[in-house]
Amino acid sequence: MNIFETHAHLDFPQFNKDRNELLQKCFREDVKYIINVGVDAKSCKASVKLAEKYENIFASVGYHPHDAKDFDLMLIEKLAKHKKVVAIGEIGLDYYRNLSPRDVQKNVLRKQIELALKIDLPIIIHDRDAHADIYEILTEYNPPKVVFHCFSGDEVFAEKIIEKGWFISLTGTVTYKNSHLENVVRMVPKDKFFIETDSPYLSPVPKRGKRNSPLNLRYVIEKIADIKRLPPKMIAEMSFQNAENFFLKKA
Ligand SMILES: [Zn+2]
Repeated sequence: MNIFETHAHLDFPQFNKDRNELLQKCFREDVKYIINVGVDAKSCKASVKLAEKYENIFASVGYHPHDAKDFDLMLIEKLAKHKKVVAIGEIGLDYYRNLSPRDVQKNVLRKQIELALKIDLPIIIHDRDAHADIYEILTEYNPPKVVFHCFSGDEVFAEKIIEKGWFISLTGTVTYKNSHLENVVRMVPKDKFFIETDSPYLSPVPKRGKRNSPLNLRYVIEKIADIKRLPPKMIAEMSFQNAENFFLKKA
């Protein structure tokens, strides 16, 4: 089975003690590719470094809405031209924590969508309690390749995204007891979803509360397989194909 981890933060300090051992274990245990996602200047640089060090790791660069107030377009544009950078992200809006003012978040989101279009890279969206505003801003530009990371909307919103030709990405939150994602998982077409951990966060059941890692993708796969009534291997393969086409092949 080949697994594509489409969203992890393996440069974060939670992995400082055992990063290399963990990655080697991931690669031995079916995780074929990993996208390491930047959120600010430091993590974007670290993501590119990690991608330089490991053949099967790729990087995404961008300013998370929390860090929008420190946005540095020149840095992101420079890093984005690196041959192992495969996406702009994670970018978006976060109206749950509002760590940057909403106007700043929106402005920085627009600037990064414009950059992605200019240099022809896919976009990884972070959307927390901001579905309507993100959708409105994205439709001003209609970028061809967009994924809503850690999708948290309902099936009506999922339908709107899929209609646009965009993707949704599912994390360990699908395994949570209070998850509202069952209908979304059931309706999402085979060719419109990816899987991810968002490590070190969002550990799936039965690992909740512990540090997450790409090794736990199997729990996400099993849950999706269970809801969709398909073999886990098929879920892994579908999401692998989708992610490979999206991130690693030029349209
Ligand atoms: Zn993330």
